[in-house]
Amino acid sequence: MECTCCGACCVAPDIAALDKPLGVRCRHLGDDNLCTIYESRPQICRDYAADALCERIAAPSLHERVERYLTEFGLLDEARANAGASSMRQARGLPILG
Ligand code: SF4
Ligand code: SF4
Repeated sequence: MECTCCGACCVAPDIAALDKPLGVRCRHLGDDNLCTIYESRPQICRDYAADALCERIAAPSLHERVERYLTEFGLLDEARANAGASSMRQARGLPILG
């Protein structure tokens, strides 16, 4: 499976190396759904490879693709609860440290 650069894996999963909560768009994802720091992206992003999941979540819009991705893992409700969170800590409802 070739990566179609659909952007879903830069929005749906939580990524600790980026302090990116579940379902929250990575701050480095450009408007064209391409990574704006591609050359210096974290190792976790380098290691992520397209697989059968990418085909299963294929849909016309990024929003739909992300919802399908999260649904695959039973994480849609948790992700919806994270809406607006800017860090994993905030998404978990923990106090934000200064
Ligand atoms: S979800 Fe799959 S097809 Fe979409 S950008 Fe990520 S690896 Fe590529
Ligand atoms: S750093 Fe780049 S590749 Fe990694 S999640 Fe963000 S936009 Fe995607």
